[in-house]
Amino acid sequence: MRQWIGSWPVVRQVTGPDRTARGDAARSPRSDALHPRLADADRVVQSICPYCAVGCGQRVFVKDEQVTQIEGDPDSPISLGKLCPKGAASKQLVTRPDRLTKVRYRRPGGTEWEDLDLDTAMQMIADRVLDTRRRTWQDTDEDGQPLRRTMGIAHLGGATLDNEENYLIKKLYTALGAIQVENQARL
Ligand code: SF4
Repeated sequence: MRQWIGSWPVVRQVTGPDRTARGDAARSPRSDALHPRLADADRVVQSICPYCAVGCGQRVFVKDEQVTQIEGDPDSPISLGKLCPKGAASKQLVTRPDRLTKVRYRRPGGTEWEDLDLDTAMQMIADRVLDTRRRTWQDTDEDGQPLRRTMGIAHLGGATLDNEENYLIKKLYTALGAIQVENQARL
């Protein structure tokens, strides 16, 4: 009994040298058997948090081609290894079982969402862009001055679009005649 009580962490803390219980007093066979899950990773991929315009650096730990953990990247000059709670939980964005993996569509007047395959959804978007452009095209103003634009289409970019993506988006929308092209990132 005396030996059993002596194994309690709190007893070891108050009777031994580890008075703050941050070392040997807190150890047990169970804690000795634990090891960081990051140690099992096959590889570590550098990435950027997808949630907001700060663009914090992330390290994505992969085992058997599955994401096992996402941590802050100390090499990032933006975030120096830190993530906010949202970024720290971003593993769920990849692994959460109830995340949406299909295009969801609710028809005009519909009350239920339905799945669409990606090709169908892309074709529907293309059809609507072309139709809207055709219907809202302004070739000239009332004085006959050239406009060559549509005010029926606008684009709002997300925070983590990179320079190259934004370049291509601007090219596409300018080619369509859309002049309302904006981006959420305002840093
Ligand atoms: S970790 Fe937080 S602050 Fe950093 S990019 Fe992600 S959401 Fe933004």
